[in-house]
Amino acid sequence: MNAPTTDIEISEELVRKFDKLGPRYTSYPTADRFHAAFTEQTYRGYLEQRAGHSSNPPLSLYVHLPFCESLCYFCACNKIITKDHARVAEYLRYLDKEMALVASRLGTDRKTVQLHLGGGTPTFFNADELGQLMAMLRRHFDFTPDAELGVEIDPRTVHPGTLTMLAGLGFNRNSFGVQDFDPAVQQAVNRIQPLDMVERAVQESRKAGFQSINADLIYGLPKQTLESFGRTLDSLIALSPDRIALYNYAHLPQRFKAQRLIVASDLPSAEARLQIFLMSMRRLLDAGYVYIGLDHFSKPDDELNKARLDKSLHRNFQGYTTRAECDLIGFGVSAISKVGDSYSQAVRTVNAYYQHLDAGMLPIEKGFELSQDDVLRRDIIMTLMCSAPVEVAAVNAKYGIDFNTYFAPELARLKPYEDAGLITIDPTAIRITPKGRLFVRASGMVFDSYLGQPTTSTYSKLI
Ligand code: SF4
Repeated sequence: MNAPTTDIEISEELVRKFDKLGPRYTSYPTADRFHAAFTEQTYRGYLEQRAGHSSNPPLSLYVHLPFCESLCYFCACNKIITKDHARVAEYLRYLDKEMALVASRLGTDRKTVQLHLGGGTPTFFNADELGQLMAMLRRHFDFTPDAELGVEIDPRTVHPGTLTMLAGLGFNRNSFGVQDFDPAVQQAVNRIQPLDMVERAVQESRKAGFQSINADLIYGLPKQTLESFGRTLDSLIALSPDRIALYNYAHLPQRFKAQRLIVASDLPSAEARLQIFLMSMRRLLDAGYVYIGLDHFSKPDDELNKARLDKSLHRNFQGYTTRAECDLIGFGVSAISKVGDSYSQAVRTVNAYYQHLDAGMLPIEKGFELSQDDVLRRDIIMTLMCSAPVEVAAVNAKYGIDFNTYFAPELARLKPYEDAGLITIDPTAIRITPKGRLFVRASGMVFDSYLGQPTTSTYSKLI
């Protein structure tokens, strides 16, 4: 790897002072603001509006595959634990119905530049079923030759030939759920996947020609210590994934039933978590990874970092992405879509999903139509989340506002961050400083006009 960059400064004192509860801004407004007054007819309207336009943005597709064989106790995903693989055939039939309904409304001139399979466990589906899914997607949508095709991998479901099969279906990116290599931690969260299992899967990915390998880690899990997580980091760094996501475990047993199986007294203390986080940041940077933002790292030559440096990085429901504004179409239970200035989310249960589609309806449960003010604020928040400068003249020209007047209260609320050296504000731009890169959420929250309103969501801290 190239020499590590030094465009981030980590200060324990600032983390203690500025780390606070807040949204992760994979959308703005955040998903807890979606409401049921946004119906399937509203969503149809947005899809049909797009079909009538000649210069439509390309498509990014997401498919939620909810089945898992066993329960990881930290899980906060929408999943179905089952050993009954016969359920896949029925789910596939309904995905096909949903895709047909959406594709018929979108028109035929849309190019698809990105696909992500998430879950649940996509590799719960066998080779034949994944082949059917890809054939279905290619029948309904027109993929560009250089489209990014990504899939989440549970190493426990990888058999010799699985990665080669996925590459054969066109997948060129994958993401391994590693979490922690320590056997005691794996036992405590009911996810046993020894290091050599992940090693074999990563090696087969490389042989199969995957262009980008991501690994997810979670800190704050039960039985974790500074030393044990240090060993996990060393093992992962030796595997040399192109990207690493370092997630913070949020223990919310009232909200996520699975987490009630975690023994709370096994969890590291707040102080231990802070030390694990600081050690992890330093170790990844020392190993040559660069900090992309929030909880994401990449190798310096990864296209995420190139996009960050040339200010073309974006943020969407899949995290950071290099693909500029796409319409995002989600399929399957609880999948979220973003079409034009709207967000929508599908129903959460398979029964409700099947009932909607049997009635010829899109399975929408809720959504949100953005106002002009929402669009403007989203633009600013996402720019800050990507650590890019908010250029005052460009915002004024794009939205027909006078930035300093329109955002006078927000500029006043940014003062403490400016005083602490996390941002700079001058008449031309707001810029995130190297010290402020860990706290982009806090700067973004200043522009969130919904934060004072009641929410059903429980926000997390950075640490
Ligand atoms: S963490 Fe992933 S594999 Fe584990 S139960 Fe949740 S969705 Fe399934």
